[in-house]
Amino acid sequence: MPLLVLDRKPEYKVISSSCLHSLKDLGEGVFGKVHLSTYSSSQDPEAGKFLVAVKILKFCGEESAKDFDREASLLTQLTHKNIVQFHGACVDEKPWKMVFEYMENGDLNQFLRVRGPDAHLLEAHGGPMDPPQKLSLLILLQMARDISQGMEYLASMHYVHRDLATRNCLVGKNLVVKIGDFGMSRDIYSSDYYRVGGHTLLPVRWMPPESVMYRKFTSESDVWSFGVVLWEIFSFGKQPWYGYSNQEVIQLVTGGQVLPCPLATPPDAYQLMLNCWQTQPNQRSTMKAVNERLVELCSPCVKNSTLYLNVIE
Ligand code: AMP
Repeated sequence: MPLLVLDRKPEYKVISSSCLHSLKDLGEGVFGKVHLSTYSSSQDPEAGKFLVAVKILKFCGEESAKDFDREASLLTQLTHKNIVQFHGACVDEKPWKMVFEYMENGDLNQFLRVRGPDAHLLEAHGGPMDPPQKLSLLILLQMARDISQGMEYLASMHYVHRDLATRNCLVGKNLVVKIGDFGMSRDIYSSDYYRVGGHTLLPVRWMPPESVMYRKFTSESDVWSFGVVLWEIFSFGKQPWYGYSNQEVIQLVTGGQVLPCPLATPPDAYQLMLNCWQTQPNQRSTMKAVNERLVELCSPCVKNSTLYLNVIE
């Protein structure tokens, strides 16, 4: 008998806790810990055993139950190669858990930081290890293209993300990038959010003027955030507007300022960012147009364009 009491049949797959075996911690978000686990389905032994990421919910009150149910139902509707797959939820015992596809290279922000030109400034993790391989321009563009494909799909489903940032994208096998977090706000990246009033945390550095001023979030505001994600990718995970306080960022953005071109970014890629940062939401590129341009830039026949004049060493 599930402990999560609903007045209807859940719209998501219910997974029994006995099918999961926890292996290690992967990280922690505002909603709780994330574990790497094995999953073996009792109903489908043919499927074998595979690795999954299990989000263990910290809060299990009545309000959280509604949020949990809403989020799990929504996640069930999303299926795309650039959206982290939701396998189902565990509600037969507390704490409740959500089971996701495991993305072996972790979150995109950390992934970029340890491979960027300033990686030596970061604390080394683990023992002696070879430095991770540098990322070519083509790989950076392919990562951006993956996210734009996921975002185009979300827009086609009339879903507004509101918190698109590299910290909310995950890197899997063969460096495929997927959008992986649909809940607002996180603990480990708390400096990326600005607290307004009591509990509201806003990712102001990723927000367009209309969202900062009127809290208006639309597919067009997601396009602006995508432009900031492109900037993060070409800056190897730097915080947008670093060196400025959140209050200063609000003044800059509402005063019409945009982020500068990151070092060694091809002009075509910066132009794409500028197209996402038009002040008027209806003047911005659509996610579809952004995706088409990125597909073009990733194709081998644009080798002679301005794109390859700058080389990232
Ligand atoms: P979150 O609760 O989504 O903020 O996740 C916290 C951390 O757990 C992330 O920064 C990742 O390092 C890790 N994580 C979350 N989901 C996954 C996943 N599907 N695969 C691998 N690692 C994950």
